[in-house]
Amino acid sequence: MHRRPRLLLSKQALAENYRFLSDRSGSAECAASVKANAYGVGIAFAAPVLWDAGCRTYFVAYLEEAVALRALLPEARIYVFHGPTDNLEPWQTHRLCPVINEKTALDSSEWLTLDPALHIDTGMSRLGFPPNQLDEVLAGIPIDSFSLCMSHLACADEPSHPSNEEQRARFTAAAAPFKEAGIALSLANTGGVLLGEAFHFDLTRPGIGLYGGSPDPSAPVGFQSVCQWQGWVTQVAHLPPDTPVGYGGSYVTSREQVILTVSVGYADGYLRALGNRAAVAIDGIECPVVGRVSMDLITIDATELWARGHRVKTDTWVELMGAQISVDRLAVAGDTIGYELLTRLGARLERQAIA
Ligand SMILES: *Cc1c(COP(=O)(O)O)cnc(C)c1O
Repeated sequence: MHRRPRLLLSKQALAENYRFLSDRSGSAECAASVKANAYGVGIAFAAPVLWDAGCRTYFVAYLEEAVALRALLPEARIYVFHGPTDNLEPWQTHRLCPVINEKTALDSSEWLTLDPALHIDTGMSRLGFPPNQLDEVLAGIPIDSFSLCMSHLACADEPSHPSNEEQRARFTAAAAPFKEAGIALSLANTGGVLLGEAFHFDLTRPGIGLYGGSPDPSAPVGFQSVCQWQGWVTQVAHLPPDTPVGYGGSYVTSREQVILTVSVGYADGYLRALGNRAAVAIDGIECPVVGRVSMDLITIDATELWARGHRVKTDTWVELMGAQISVDRLAVAGDTIGYELLTRLGARLERQAIA
């Protein structure tokens, strides 16, 4: 028989990561970035857990994500990073707060009725107003129209990068009128939280750490593993030496080897780049992925496992990512970051919340 790969989602790990980041945020409120379906983990899973852990403010990228979140959390404050759309009505209906990133959003005052945030660009050149445009942008607008003044760090995953301190200083200066008016300030993502108190201001908005990933996967922070990703062993083959394995025969057995076929592939988000590079864990023992990753299958060398007396059978689960094969490790093996691995977790996975 066969089974789809599955994701076991730990409520406890998510709540612990939130509490850790909230503690590390000191006196600042800890919000949650839950864009992209809570980084692929699943918004319907994540939102209630975060709410129960004490999180009251949330950030998403798109209006549609905010509407979906509102259905889950009737009382949360919800900010939308990408800002206004072509229609005010859903924002009013669902009590959503846009982040104002560009001037046309302020041409009429209607978006100011929604307790928006203002985004200042302090060195990323991606979204927001450069500090030298603020006077012009805000002319004639009561500053207390805004509920939040924010900026975003470009290099928080590199704690010693000089840009962090430069952005902090620029933000402190540019946001001073907001601070004087008693409006909350926010700069820190996960990396920013870890940079220390000077970066926390009034509100932090981590994402990746909540879901178990580190800003820099090659410098693991040690967040709890939220996603236990498992594949099903569908075949156990004892192959003679010189047998090619998988597409293109990119791997060839060098001796008599035990090769497992496991149900997961790049269509599920198991990146093709992981072929011949990653490992899976079976009963705590790591076995390398050999050959190319196919759309729906991978092949694993379990020869060592057998040599140690573990007679792995078909119809068992193996860990693709989880407490042992961390999202950070898998990201490094795939030459990417945890953010990309998580947000690519496929729609085909069976998802199951666990305590
Ligand atoms: C995604 C995002 C965050 C969260 O960043 P992490 O690195 O995942 O903690 C915070 N702020 C903005 C503007 C973002 O786009």
